[in-house]
Amino acid sequence: MSEGTPKLCEVQNASKVYRMGDITVHALSGVSVSVGSGEFTVFSGPSGSGKSTLLNLIGCLDRPSSGKVLLEGQDVASLADAALGQVRARRIGFIFQSFNLIPVLTAYENVELALRLAGQLQDAESRVRQALSDVGLADYLGRRPSQLSGGQQQRVAIARALVKRPALVIADEPTANLDSKNGAAILDLMKEMNRRDGVTFLFSTHDPMVMSHARRIVSLRDGEVVGDTVGEGK
Ligand code: ADP
Ligand code: MG
Repeated sequence: MSEGTPKLCEVQNASKVYRMGDITVHALSGVSVSVGSGEFTVFSGPSGSGKSTLLNLIGCLDRPSSGKVLLEGQDVASLADAALGQVRARRIGFIFQSFNLIPVLTAYENVELALRLAGQLQDAESRVRQALSDVGLADYLGRRPSQLSGGQQQRVAIARALVKRPALVIADEPTANLDSKNGAAILDLMKEMNRRDGVTFLFSTHDPMVMSHARRIVSLRDGEVVGDTVGEGK
């Protein structure tokens, strides 16, 4: 990366405050962190430390109370809702702990919907088929989420995240609802996509197995970054 090229993502002194009646929660306090293209990075920390809040800011699901979030050099916190939604639909892929597939849609339709929302209609059918084949589900296109195992549902979610070729994939505790065998298989799959296609992955987890694969571990405590270390992952 040449001098002056913006990082894929830069969070600058971001804070997030939630107010519920008389109660104020400082979910993030003055967080600064940047992520480069091609990273395989984990945000770790105990429950309530702010991992999801931070991923939601980076993923344009939410805005900081103060500070900045730059994505590909653009200050996304200042965008209007519709524009923010466009960035999210086109540039970010999400993988959640509870899969978040649409129950009435088939695997194929769940993945296709992501392409529609991103406005990428060209070659849609072959791209959806390829994405589902890449995650080992070529024979399951017509199944609804309830007809798939947890591991298979997470594979559909990975295909949905990857099909639009996003700049960044955000995976919030992606193995939390999987047994260790399926969790490891899902992680191997994401690792392969990172290696082969250079897809950038940002995780949150407290699963030691996920952490052992990370190349970089950013530690959060009480809404602050308390560590940023090189992981064991290759
Ligand atoms: P983690 O993902 O590390 O478990 P979160 O980012 O979910 O942490 O939460 C950080 C803090 O912010 C916690 O104290 C949590 O209760 C609070 N919080 C998160 N989301 C909301 C919300 N929508 N409204 C109020 N408080 C919230
Ligand atoms: Mg969380």
